[in-house]
Amino acid sequence: MKVFKFGGASVKDSKSIKNITRILKLTGYNDTIIVLSAMGKTTNALEFLVKDYMQGGSSYMDILNKIKEDHLKIINDLFKKTKKSPYNDIVELTNELNNFLKINKSTDHSFIYDQVVCFGELISTKIISFYLELEGIKNYWLDVRKCIKTDSYFRNAALNWNETGKLVKKEIKNKSTIITQGFIASDSKGYSTTLGREGSDYTAAIFAFILNSSSLTIWKDVPGVLNADPRYFNTTQLLKNISYREAIELAYYGASVIHPKTLQPLQQKRIPLFVKSFENPKGNGTKVYEGSKLNPLIPCFILKKNQTLLELSTLDFSFIVEENISQIFSLMDKYKVRVEMIQNSAISFAVCINDRYGKLKDLVLELNLKFKVEVKENVLLHTIRHFDNSSIKEIKESGKKILLEQRTYKTAQFVLSEN
Ligand code: ASP
Ligand code: MG
Repeated sequence: MKVFKFGGASVKDSKSIKNITRILKLTGYNDTIIVLSAMGKTTNALEFLVKDYMQGGSSYMDILNKIKEDHLKIINDLFKKTKKSPYNDIVELTNELNNFLKINKSTDHSFIYDQVVCFGELISTKIISFYLELEGIKNYWLDVRKCIKTDSYFRNAALNWNETGKLVKKEIKNKSTIITQGFIASDSKGYSTTLGREGSDYTAAIFAFILNSSSLTIWKDVPGVLNADPRYFNTTQLLKNISYREAIELAYYGASVIHPKTLQPLQQKRIPLFVKSFENPKGNGTKVYEGSKLNPLIPCFILKKNQTLLELSTLDFSFIVEENISQIFSLMDKYKVRVEMIQNSAISFAVCINDRYGKLKDLVLELNLKFKVEVKENVLLHTIRHFDNSSIKEIKESGKKILLEQRTYKTAQFVLSEN
């Protein structure tokens, strides 16, 4: 079995869906599991829907209708003259979502979020499954929630490997081409859960691991893994080979091409990961596997925006010692902020964080009970793996103010403010 994953950008409109057919015909699609994301920016739209719904707003129905219309337009494009179209399925799915919103009594934001956003993937896979059939690619549409089982930690659920292993093998048996959803799963009560934003890569890796796949290919709108994000950097280079270890490091620092949780399962079973361009499927792309270092060995740049720098000192100017540090970290854990970089001196402790769930205010309130806290919002975190003199010089001469700087043997990190 091989596993393919197509992200939101590769299924964003009818043209890109046609392109998937082209890729499958080129690569072969027997014994293949195809994991798909929601189309384009659908997950973002569903997030807005949830936000408005939670605030008792009046626009969430408009958002839902817009999502429905956008998908029906794509169906119209793809299935012009055919009778067998997913039109009814999509209407049914959006009705189901509408129903949930009507009868829901819960006020748990994360629970509601997962019950709603899962529709993005359910809808996209239905459309693509029908389209592949139309193109002569027989396939089986699998509701992934039947076999990817998690705990009930909504929005960032943890996998139940045991249960998932058994169910995946059962569901996959005797099937050749399977279309299914990334990112979404279900808990022991059958409620929908999600694996964290951009989690479809992880779903693909879970399948690859359980089925001992020969490879996992992630199809992207870039030629492969690049040494910098082309949205922020003018010149980028393709990384041809990367070891699992290096890829894990890059993902950890925030390189957004591969979801961080994706790599460990692949590494454990030595399953090679290919990252390829869906526009140029014959191109080499990037191969991530055991042993190969980084080829070419060049500096890799990772930029994270919208970070927050906290500078803490004790109220009585006493030293920051182990006890304080452990308190600080347990609060970071409590508010689920991600610690990106830390630096401490005798009486101060600086920490650059990513406030993933908008908990900064509460965090700072609680820190204020014990510490004097200075907050700088909207800072940039710039990481360079395999830095050299000229890459460091570039940052120093960028005109941005360096608030914090740290270097280890292979990695340099800078917290910068825009002015
Ligand atoms: N659709 C989800 C998201 O946009 C999952 C994914 O694309 O991997 O985060
Ligand atoms: Mg996506």
